[in-house]
Amino acid sequence: MTSTHAFWLAGREATGEESFDVTNSWDGRLVGTVSVPTEAQVEEAVAAAHAVRDEFAATPAHVRAAALDHVARRLTERTEEIAQVISAENGKPIKWARGEVGRAVSVFRFASEEARRFNSGDAQRLDTDAGGTGRLGLTRRFPRGTVLGIAPFNFPLNLSAHKVAPAIAVGAPIILKPAPATPISSLILGELLAETDLPAGSWSVLTVPNDRMPALVQDERLPVISFTGSAPVGYAIMDSVPRKHCTLELGGNGAAVVLGDYASEADLDWAATRIATFSNYQGGQSCISVQRVIADAAVYDRLLPKIVAAVEAQVTGDPSDAATDVGPLVDENAAKRVESWVDEAVEAGAQLLAGGKRDGSTYAPTVLAELPDGVTLSYEEVFGPVLSVQKVDGEAEAFASVNSSQYGLQAGVFTHDLQTAFRAHRALEVGGVIIGDVPSYRADQMPYGGAKQSGVGREGVRYAMDDYTYERVLVLTGL
Ligand code: NAD
Repeated sequence: MTSTHAFWLAGREATGEESFDVTNSWDGRLVGTVSVPTEAQVEEAVAAAHAVRDEFAATPAHVRAAALDHVARRLTERTEEIAQVISAENGKPIKWARGEVGRAVSVFRFASEEARRFNSGDAQRLDTDAGGTGRLGLTRRFPRGTVLGIAPFNFPLNLSAHKVAPAIAVGAPIILKPAPATPISSLILGELLAETDLPAGSWSVLTVPNDRMPALVQDERLPVISFTGSAPVGYAIMDSVPRKHCTLELGGNGAAVVLGDYASEADLDWAATRIATFSNYQGGQSCISVQRVIADAAVYDRLLPKIVAAVEAQVTGDPSDAATDVGPLVDENAAKRVESWVDEAVEAGAQLLAGGKRDGSTYAPTVLAELPDGVTLSYEEVFGPVLSVQKVDGEAEAFASVNSSQYGLQAGVFTHDLQTAFRAHRALEVGGVIIGDVPSYRADQMPYGGAKQSGVGREGVRYAMDDYTYERVLVLTGL
């Protein structure tokens, strides 16, 4: 069954003159046809957001919180239907798609709670020197203006939620631009927003083609850009608008460190299972997938076969099947790119311990060891179901290896030692250090973002709310 989807222009459904098809990367079937806004329609959406910005910023918190609660409730009610859409448009195994809807529910709930307590204000005494006698400072945060949210394909609903919910929570209009491969779940999010009382111009979901995005990025009525996607596109956007407030959530080549104290059978079983699961979930197409395993020599020989066995136990297949762990990549070109990088590594001397095969758009879960320096896999984000295991001697070498990456999104450290945990927190150049688990752990309320080439700024509902607003102080005199 296929359908044609309108986009959302200033809170109402609209269609343009052109459309594009969204296909399922597992079997190539048509999932839906999506209408593309004309330039005039994009202009209308931007103008409406700009016109409503003061009214929206002044909307009472309870109104915005109620709208966010409504979306959370409706996402819950429509979980199965929306999970099927995510699975079909993205190729994501259905069990992971259901989990993604659950996370988006949490994002809207957190946002409604934060909307209620945000901006309670902060009083500062100013009479600390003579010039401030009789004065008081009151600080509140105000929206910077309309947010342009640009979302990637890999978590099409939840990463759209991470743009939209914090904007509503602070009263900033939002124009959401979903990824062309996976726009339908974001358009369904629009259906839920349309059921609320939010001012019409305060939100739009626009399926603008990439080649028309530079004009939107440049538009001065959109002072905030919240981008999640690849590093080259993200930095090109930021470089093109150096005076805008940009949040960039970019790529990574996540490392899981297994230290020498993490050595019981149960420890290594847990580490191997978590590593295998989270180097492969959604075909490795997560910015915090495990791509590198850095294992202390004390555990390496026992850990490696467990990882290989756990990776081989991953079930690859039809994403609509509840038993499937690993579905296809976003398209066949992505799978061919992963194949070429693995082939390059093996030709340069890497040991292939599992996988290494492509079937159309699906790439088999793959384990490599002894990855030579300089091959693409050693420094780039693979964004596929491939991990490499490296032996190191001790904590210092392990941490240096994590930090040798150009990226720094999150790192996992398997250790039981509290002091090691604190040392890891201090030493690792990443946005998040996960102790006792893989780098792929993310709770939607925690600050989330990168160091180095992994980006600028933080998401995680409250942190995005800070980013979408700025402090303005009110000085009262004569008190
Ligand atoms: P992408 O960079 O190709 O596209 C991201 C978005 O940017 C899409 O909506 C795309 O249509 C849009 N876009 C493309 N060209 C543009 C332009 N010139 N101007 C404005 N927008 C443009 O990324 P992708 O393939 O959709 O997603 C995969 C990447 O996203 C990976 O690198 C992954 O690591 C990263 N990612 C990061 C996070 C994070 O939170 N750090 C989360 C998920 C994905």
